[in-house]
Amino acid sequence: MAEYDYDLFVIGAGSGGVRGARLAAELGAKVGIAEEYRIGGTCVIRGCVPKKLLVYGSRYGGEIEDARGYGWTCEGVRFAWPTLIHNVRREIDRLNGVYTRTLENAGVDKFLTHATLEDPHSVRLADRDTPISAKYILVATGSHPVMPKVPGAQHLISSNECFHLEALPESIVIIGAGYIGMEFASIFAGLGVAVTVLYRGNQVLRDFDMDLRDGVAEALRDRGVDLRMATNVASIEKEEGCYRVKLKEGGSVAAALVMAATGRAPNTAGLGLQQAGVELGWNGHVVVDEYSKSSVDSIYAVGDVTDRKNLTPVAIREANAFVETVFQGKPAAMDYTFIPTAVFTEPELGTVGYSEEQARERCARIDIYKSSFKPMRATLSGRNEKVLMKLVIDAETDKVLGCHMLGPDAAEIVQMAAVALKLGVTKAQLDSTMALHPSIAEELVTMRHRWEPPVPIKGSDAAA
Ligand code: NDP
Repeated sequence: MAEYDYDLFVIGAGSGGVRGARLAAELGAKVGIAEEYRIGGTCVIRGCVPKKLLVYGSRYGGEIEDARGYGWTCEGVRFAWPTLIHNVRREIDRLNGVYTRTLENAGVDKFLTHATLEDPHSVRLADRDTPISAKYILVATGSHPVMPKVPGAQHLISSNECFHLEALPESIVIIGAGYIGMEFASIFAGLGVAVTVLYRGNQVLRDFDMDLRDGVAEALRDRGVDLRMATNVASIEKEEGCYRVKLKEGGSVAAALVMAATGRAPNTAGLGLQQAGVELGWNGHVVVDEYSKSSVDSIYAVGDVTDRKNLTPVAIREANAFVETVFQGKPAAMDYTFIPTAVFTEPELGTVGYSEEQARERCARIDIYKSSFKPMRATLSGRNEKVLMKLVIDAETDKVLGCHMLGPDAAEIVQMAAVALKLGVTKAQLDSTMALHPSIAEELVTMRHRWEPPVPIKGSDAAA
């Protein structure tokens, strides 16, 4: 008789968990997986995928406007939120089915219930009496939105609820200016909602390159978003037909909905992790080594629950590396360098590598190349649109350390730039690459003039 019921038991069927379960099963391991919500996880069910569909939906209004300059007559154009959200939900149901079948086809046993760890080799499922034993356990439970602790926080929605809205609000206040705050501000603005963003810091998207941060803020303001910096929420109160957000700085904003986009925290509560001896970090994340192994030899963890780099492709890569390490006997450590990422605002932002500010801290000398221009498309559309392209170079090695872009298809372009950066591309090699004309991306290989910070004009302060 086998020593354990399963070779691998996975808790959480999101991007990381499904990948780990499927790959291990395809290698012949006996695998079980537990999921208490829906198979697919945050990315597929209430994150990246439905969000990107809403992004596409929100862009058509602007594109229809643009089309006029190209000779199209666009009268009687209407938008119906129920159609969009219904179609998004239908696609999510389809993907939920695809993920479910992926597990079934790989021979993974599914348990649609809550699982808790009992000890380093056993898991208890909420809907059965006897625990399940496993040689290895993979914790891939993801993260959840964190709500700010302010009076009236019970009135807040998170991004999760945005996918369940039956009607589009006339106005929304968004608290927080990170990935989710900026993306939803852009989506709602594109769909005609009056958007106010309240951010406690001085500029949106902390930790991104400052030129990108400035560019996103300017673009959102141009599209009518009321972005308020250095603004803190004191309380949220329900009033007749709306919510009133009171500000610590004085004054208030009223809106039909108030959304918190104030970060996410690992899902580790109620999992029995500490009971099984698993060390948790400062915000409850599972502490793991470079092979995703926790402080308990038989328990591994991947994805947001480990709070390393909380992005779907990273969770998937961590799961691949876990399977290689544990089931193929090839220790595979994760490499977190040059991870490209995008913020799907309109225009979108794509970035890989060091920001100018990070590079200045780490390198003796850096060179900056940047270009800001009106894309060709905007010449006839008349849209007030600017593209920003920026390269951060280590002046001593000529290596490209960072590539940043704000503009159409930034995510697609930066994904390809990430290949070059990962391979250690130099500025000279970019310059030797032939441009593809006319395109926006050609700017990456045609930037010849180093950017110099403006020299302050003597006495200019006095003049001002
Ligand atoms: P972020 O950490 O990106 O942003 C959180 C925002 O909320 C920041 O502006 C932060 O301010 C602010 N904030 C945090 N706590 C408070 C508080 N108590 N009161 C007021 N403001 C607060 O988190 P998100 O929720 O936007 O996204 C979570 C994660 O999901 C991202 O970090 C990313 O990993 C992932 N994600 C990725 C996407 C993509 O790849 N396109 C899309 C969406 C999410 P401050 O800057 O001062 O800390």
